[in-house]
Amino acid sequence: VLHKDVLVIGAGVIGLCTAYHIKKGNPNLSVLVVDHNAAASQGETAKSFAAVRNCFTSEPNRLLAHSTIEFYKHAQENLGVNLGLELIGYLWLFTKSQYEHFQTLEKEMRGQGVQFKIWELDDLKSMIPDLLPNPDTEQSRLVGSEAVYKGVQGLNCGVVGPERVAGFYEAELRKLGGELQFKTDVQILKLGPKEELKIPGEPLVWQDKVFSGVETSEGSISADNIVVAAGVGSLSLFDAAGVDCPVKPKKRQVFQLRGPKALERLLTTSGFNDRGTVPVTILPRAGVHFRPNRGERSIWVACADDLGRPYLYEENPMPEDSYYNCSIYPILSDYFPCFTSLRPSNSWAGHYDINTVDRTPIVERVANCVIVTGMSGSGIMKADGIGRVAAAVLQGRSETTLFDGRKLQTSRIGLKNRSVGREELVL
Ligand SMILES: Cc1cc2nc3c(=O)[nH]c(=O)nc-3n(C[C@H](O)[C@H](O)[C@H](O)COP(=O)(O)OP(=O)(O)OC[C@H]3O[C@@H](n4cnc5c(N)ncnc54)[C@H](O)[C@@H]3O)c2cc1C
Repeated sequence: VLHKDVLVIGAGVIGLCTAYHIKKGNPNLSVLVVDHNAAASQGETAKSFAAVRNCFTSEPNRLLAHSTIEFYKHAQENLGVNLGLELIGYLWLFTKSQYEHFQTLEKEMRGQGVQFKIWELDDLKSMIPDLLPNPDTEQSRLVGSEAVYKGVQGLNCGVVGPERVAGFYEAELRKLGGELQFKTDVQILKLGPKEELKIPGEPLVWQDKVFSGVETSEGSISADNIVVAAGVGSLSLFDAAGVDCPVKPKKRQVFQLRGPKALERLLTTSGFNDRGTVPVTILPRAGVHFRPNRGERSIWVACADDLGRPYLYEENPMPEDSYYNCSIYPILSDYFPCFTSLRPSNSWAGHYDINTVDRTPIVERVANCVIVTGMSGSGIMKADGIGRVAAAVLQGRSETTLFDGRKLQTSRIGLKNRSVGREELVL
């Protein structure tokens, strides 16, 4: 039986980053990452909207995202690795009441270094001629579009290349001697007694238990420590092992639009950032948002749909035309008539692994297993921070130092002594 000091399940951005931080901190440990796909980052990491932001109302979320973005900046600027990071900003188009609510959250965020620029409506109108700030049609009344009052731009935010990020961690892990094994489907986490007595039915309730390894499609692998970072694939492993975890899968979709000159105008909007493009933009209604993809000359559109969308895992989730046409399009074309009549040229769907209690990641130790889950739609932007916390938890440390030098008590994002605060800026 193959034996490793540390076995990491899942070669997405989270598993790779965690494996890298474990190996970096403990060069002598043998670290193996297994994945059922034929290569790394083909799960949710490949399906994301690929946006990053440090604007969160929960302090641990802010710490994780801010330090991760700082690390990506460092990798790109100082290590010369192209991660596709472009800090083009996040632009929230707020109604008056939304802006007033934002003001109640703003001070705390600014106090921790989150930088915002407030845009007056006149600025927005002249900088984005395609924005219709006060839609007033029958459709607007039907979908409840309200007038834009101000814009709030998160400055240390933007877009990134998730496969590039994951590829960076994979390469660094390999350089340190970490190993990867693909086409290996983990079927079960094997729980056994800490001290084997050779009694039938072990582990019995009175025995201390450890995870001795995993059963896979390619045979057994034993390990001293296991990290489960298999995205939505973790959930069935947890359930089968009796590991309680408040995380559920939910489908999310992205639609890509290409087309008329007006979209090209959005892609070349000046004044918001040094790339001369429109920021990742969040409309005032129903969480509809879009981002530019300058390389592909396209705009990606998505929406945060919650109530009504089942918690359901699908083997091959498909995007739905009707979701774009009937849910997203009326709002998008209301505020940005330049999208009128446009239909997606491409689309895809994946799952969020949503922490249904507080929509914030979970890193917890269960016996000799570290569970890293509940990314809730923001795993790319928090990966470096999460990897550091997971490595610290594996090593039994109660605190970790993030890339930007700030410290995070690991228990704050654990399950037993959790303290994450309230997250209000969920997309
Ligand atoms: C539509 C959409 C938009 C998103 N937008 C953003 C965004 O803008 N910004 C952001 O930060 N995040 C975003 N996310 C979330 C982000 O993609 C995830 O949080 C992140 O990719 C999670 O990484 P992961 O490594 O945990 O999961 P994954 O990338 O899914 O990796 C898990 C790996 O485990 C493997 N695996 C699963 N089960 C098993 C098993 N039993 N045995 C072996 N291997 C297994 C899978 O093959 C996979 O490679 C989005 C997600 C979706 C779906």
